[in-house]
Amino acid sequence: MADLTRLDAPIVVGAGVAGLSVALGLPRAYVVTAPDMGSTWWAQGGIAAALSSDDSPFEHAADTLAVAGGLAAADAVGALTAGGPEAIARLIQIGAEFDRNDEGELLLGQEGGHHRRRVVHADGDATGAEVMRALNQAVAESDSVEIIEAKVVDLARASEGVAGVITADGKRRHIYTAPAVVMATGGAGRMFARTTNPTGVTGDGIMIAGRAGARLADLEFVQFHPTALNAGKDPMPLLTEALRGEGAMLVDPHGRRFMDQYHSMAELAPRDVVARAIFWQYDHGSAAYLDARAIPNFHERFPTVTAHALSVDLDPVSDLLPVSPAAHYYMGGIDADTSGRTSVPGLWAVGECASTGVHGANRLASNSLLEGLVFGARVAASVAAHARTVEGEISVPKEALDLPVTPGPALEDLRQTMWDRVGVVRTGDGLWAARNAILELSSVLSRTIGGRNASDLALLMVMAALRRSESRGGHYRADYPEPDPMQEHRTLIDPGAADTVVVFA
Ligand SMILES: Cc1cc2nc3c(=O)[nH]c(=O)nc-3n(C[C@H](O)[C@H](O)[C@H](O)COP(=O)(O)OP(=O)(O)OC[C@H]3O[C@@H](n4cnc5c(N)ncnc54)[C@H](O)[C@@H]3O)c2cc1C
Repeated sequence: MADLTRLDAPIVVGAGVAGLSVALGLPRAYVVTAPDMGSTWWAQGGIAAALSSDDSPFEHAADTLAVAGGLAAADAVGALTAGGPEAIARLIQIGAEFDRNDEGELLLGQEGGHHRRRVVHADGDATGAEVMRALNQAVAESDSVEIIEAKVVDLARASEGVAGVITADGKRRHIYTAPAVVMATGGAGRMFARTTNPTGVTGDGIMIAGRAGARLADLEFVQFHPTALNAGKDPMPLLTEALRGEGAMLVDPHGRRFMDQYHSMAELAPRDVVARAIFWQYDHGSAAYLDARAIPNFHERFPTVTAHALSVDLDPVSDLLPVSPAAHYYMGGIDADTSGRTSVPGLWAVGECASTGVHGANRLASNSLLEGLVFGARVAASVAAHARTVEGEISVPKEALDLPVTPGPALEDLRQTMWDRVGVVRTGDGLWAARNAILELSSVLSRTIGGRNASDLALLMVMAALRRSESRGGHYRADYPEPDPMQEHRTLIDPGAADTVVVFA
């Protein structure tokens, strides 16, 4: 059985940029978060916002839509880019320090797919850490946010919708009920053997919401970052796109550039184009390197990349850096509107675990920290307006009370299958092989909560990828290499709510 605590303020699950932005926007909130750091801390390149005199939210929206494979929701994109300048101002107001020139103006970087310099950054390439420092400081200084460190394993239900969360501490379970629950649990990059995402980012929160009956969206769309450092580390260190923005080139083992064969924007082409070009280099028996040797003051300007490279005995000032694509960002997730409302009463979703359609089939670089900030504020307003009192019976899925939490080594087999068969370039045969392998692995993985979430999500991802018999954004099918106008729509999946047992009447 489980203990029960009735909370009188909303619960936000997750303490990354999205979760903390929601919590700070509410009059009072509880943040329930696992010890894993989440992706925000690792973000390098920066936050996109139309801040320069030759730019506008309208142009930022046009660039966002242009890379999104026709699937972006225009209202969500408009809300995102219009909210950019204010979101940066709010961060600065709570103490975030961004890089500036000698005149004190914000330095704006450029990344792939952006036609303007509009990427704000901190300490060169340590933007996420600075954002988290500032948000955590604001939380520490506020008396309206309380942090509860615990892993959420499922959601509690009332007669109508979600009533709270179930947390695990070893074998013990605790149920917290609350007037609203906001999932802000991040993405799913670690479903793949090659990823830039840190431990814990396996789409847990997405399947937790799915099992409570929440509709999921666009599960086939994974963004593979083109340039992870290919030197045997897990997670693979990211070589930020800002390097290419500053002139770094992609070259083959003979030092020859190859990107101009693939796209007029060459190294600054959209991420999916660059990722596939690098994939094909290896597929054709060659290799790919990032040549950043011409960037002046490299060590000072990119200290995070420098540290990653030096840790594997490479110096970006003198060496070519071997690169591989790696799973980086998940466009799919819990279907949510621009206020974070899901298909289940009492449940909101925000940040990378949500799928609002703002990124369509492919995310524009540096738009996801912005998403956490802008939609975080919008979600807070919606939760404040619609949170309700939880009354009556509380029920939970029975397995949430007794299954162990942490998946065993079979998770690594799942990750390898996903990378080999559901990665940068997919085929129908490969996807069917993945489906069969996942079904086999799931007999072991479903003995733990984390393993079951990972294998269930993997299976849904594969089925969505099989159903989309075309290529669009982050989803590329070698057997259907062109987009099909008949399939220019989002994929919505209702996984169906799990059975529950009443635990408190
Ligand atoms: C290496 C790297 C570089 C990046 N660079 C950039 C960049 O320059 N610009 C940009 O815009 N984006 C960048 N991104 C993407 C961006 O960092 C993420 O999309 C964004 O930070 C996600 O924020 P989030 O708040 O949704 O999730 P996260 O920051 O991942 O936070 C998730 C939180 O949920 C908690 N959690 C998860 N599951 C549970 C559970 N079951 N119970 C309780 N708590 C749970 C975690 O502990 C964590 O606190 C980068 C990503 C990576 C990995």
